Amino acid sequence: MAKDKQFVTEITPQSEDFSRWYIDVIKKAELMDYSPVRGCIVFRPEGYELWENIQRDLDARFKETGHRNAYFPLFIPESFFQKEKDHVEGFNPELPWVTEAAGEVLEERLAIRPTSETMIGHMYAKWIQSYRDLPVLINQWANVVRWEKRTLPFLRTSEFLWQEGHTAHETEEEARQETLQMLDVYTQFVEEFLAIPVIKGEKTPSERFAGAVNTYSIEAMMKDGKAVQAGTSHFLGNKFAVAFDIKYLDRNNELQYCFTTSWGVSTRLIGALIMVHGDDRGLALPPKVAPTQVIMIPIGPAKTRDAVVARVDELYAELKAAGVRVRVDDRSDVSPGWKFNEYEMRGIPLRLELGPRDMDNGQVVLVSRITGEKRVVSQANLVQEVQAMLSETQQEMFERAKAFRADNSYSVDTLDEMKAAMERKRGFVEAGWCGSDACEKQVKEETGATSRNIPFEPETHKTTCLVCGSEAKHTVIFARAY
Ligand code: AMP
Repeated sequence: MAKDKQFVTEITPQSEDFSRWYIDVIKKAELMDYSPVRGCIVFRPEGYELWENIQRDLDARFKETGHRNAYFPLFIPESFFQKEKDHVEGFNPELPWVTEAAGEVLEERLAIRPTSETMIGHMYAKWIQSYRDLPVLINQWANVVRWEKRTLPFLRTSEFLWQEGHTAHETEEEARQETLQMLDVYTQFVEEFLAIPVIKGEKTPSERFAGAVNTYSIEAMMKDGKAVQAGTSHFLGNKFAVAFDIKYLDRNNELQYCFTTSWGVSTRLIGALIMVHGDDRGLALPPKVAPTQVIMIPIGPAKTRDAVVARVDELYAELKAAGVRVRVDDRSDVSPGWKFNEYEMRGIPLRLELGPRDMDNGQVVLVSRITGEKRVVSQANLVQEVQAMLSETQQEMFERAKAFRADNSYSVDTLDEMKAAMERKRGFVEAGWCGSDACEKQVKEETGATSRNIPFEPETHKTTCLVCGSEAKHTVIFARAY
């Protein structure tokens, strides 16, 4: 640990090596540490608190839309995976198995869940008898395991934390509505809370969730121009209902299969947060998700210190009572300058300074992590001033991320144009696509970019496929992705 700390003395500039920058930042800000198990990370308190804040806000949104939380087992019998052909094909390569317990070989191997459609499908078949039992709207907060070949802290780990919503409905229409409703919930959350603009759309068949009829995603652009799939929502048709026999008696007393959905976001969102907002000074956290929103630093000479610290403590109590997440650093053995750098690196949105002169004038100095703007404000209106500056910061961060995305998005008509464009600058490329797997594969082989999604609201409507030139069925966003 001590070795690690010394190791990251400087943060590599983003322009020099973005991946190095990312690792430097998350280690120096103490968000995570590597674990002895391949691809699994430890969420340290600074990182875990980000997840707790994400959970709290999302959970409220799920409940507002009628969902309730439940918890299902970590272990899934092997036979469950054999029931849905596409699902098993997709997940088999990534499954870890428990074959032995308490010194005995198990009769049936148990998978450690990579996702819970099978287990939940099994339970829904028991719980659902009649149309009166529907819809079932359940969410689970859990850890899952997918034995990933390539891993990167937060963005792609072998064990990750997530939520998975699983719903069952009477009609296809209702299930489709649910799928899109949850995509909207994710969009609003990621844009409003994490200040990350996203593109909503449908995944192409090759990128679909194993066993889904339609997969929808929200895609975000990182500061190196690469994409992160920030959330997915799946319409499962009645494929899992057939596989697990989830049937109900309808209003005419006839047996019908349910229509089901599933949707999830994971601790990957923390990685996206860092890569969208961070800069060469370190992390930059949007106020809504920041564990600490304001850091208060008393300044000035030793002789006024006690009085300044006492006033800081009073102001701290006021801010705290108003619901602002605030901390005081009144250590006298480190200089204010050191503290300024430290909290900028940790991404705390606002710094509050109070010195003897500010005391005399009844004011404080507020400094924004993002813009560097300094505001001298009256102590009498401190709560309002702080709240206003936090909400402006939140908005500013969203606008900046949106402007960055716009600057790094382009539209092309041919694969050659795309290659040339991507050599100049990474980013999102909008292009026409005929719908064939072969053309999609060729884009990947020649550019390294994958289809992100078919946006609901493309900037342009393309008429020809970028690869084969035949009629375009869709306009697609392509990008290199994490
Ligand atoms: P899926 O069940 O594949 O649709 O994934 C649900 C959510 O988890 C999506 O938001 C994915 O981006 C995210 N996710 C998938 N695999 C990983 C992983 N290995 N590490 C972190 N997040 C992941």
